[in-house]
Amino acid sequence: MSTAHPDTHFTSEPTSTWTSSNGSKADLLDTFKTFCPRVQKLLKLVPEGNVLEWRLRVHLPLNTWVDGNVCLTGDAAHSTLPHLAQGAAQAAEDAAVLAVVLSKISKKEDIHKALKVYEAMRKSRAEYAVSQAHANGKGLQLSGGADREARNKKFKEADPKGGANPDKQVDKDLQKFLYGVDIAAETEQKFDEIFAGL
Ligand SMILES: Cc1cc2nc3c(=O)[nH]c(=O)nc-3n(C[C@H](O)[C@H](O)[C@H](O)COP(=O)(O)OP(=O)(O)OC[C@H]3O[C@@H](n4cnc5c(N)ncnc54)[C@H](O)[C@@H]3O)c2cc1C
Repeated sequence: MSTAHPDTHFTSEPTSTWTSSNGSKADLLDTFKTFCPRVQKLLKLVPEGNVLEWRLRVHLPLNTWVDGNVCLTGDAAHSTLPHLAQGAAQAAEDAAVLAVVLSKISKKEDIHKALKVYEAMRKSRAEYAVSQAHANGKGLQLSGGADREARNKKFKEADPKGGANPDKQVDKDLQKFLYGVDIAAETEQKFDEIFAGL
């Protein structure tokens, strides 16, 4: 079983393996010992030797998503922690932008440049969403100490009608960034300029 970071529920692991069936039931019960009796009752039903650890990984941004006439999309391009519910949302934006850029060209010699327009429209945006999901996971899963006190104070002070919020899923500014953009329409508008500059 992984060693818990003292301040968070995050763990550090020496390998890149993301699943392991060698989890310990004792460690599992210990990790959730402060949870309500109903959760603990459920966890006690887990058969011995059947604890699957599913590690959540942070990957650094790739240098590029495009190689020749091939590109990465979705999780392969920007694997995202679950704390912002953005993995599939960002994959859907990739697909929408790819549909636009490929509709703009009529010869195979232009595929590479069209894919570079896709990358220009999507990479920094998706990577910002990835960074915010990571930050949200850290902020929401503080298990104690001064950092958690400070975060809870921010929760109390947050204006429910708008502005910043320690839970980035309800932060109005981030919501505007994530949901207030029609990325396909923006690609339609910017395609010619970006394509010409490549
Ligand atoms: C528990 C959970 C909850 C989630 N909740 C949300 C949410 O609320 N909102 C959100 O936006 N996102 C959410 N996500 C993330 C979202 O599911 C992923 O970001 C999204 O599915 C990524 O899509 P993808 O097409 O890139 O990859 P995938 O959906 O993983 O698709 C890849 C496909 O490739 C197939 N494949 C793999 N290898 C091969 C091979 N060698 N040959 C052929 N096929 C292969 C796989 O079987 C799979 O069907 C969640 C994910 C999980 C696990």
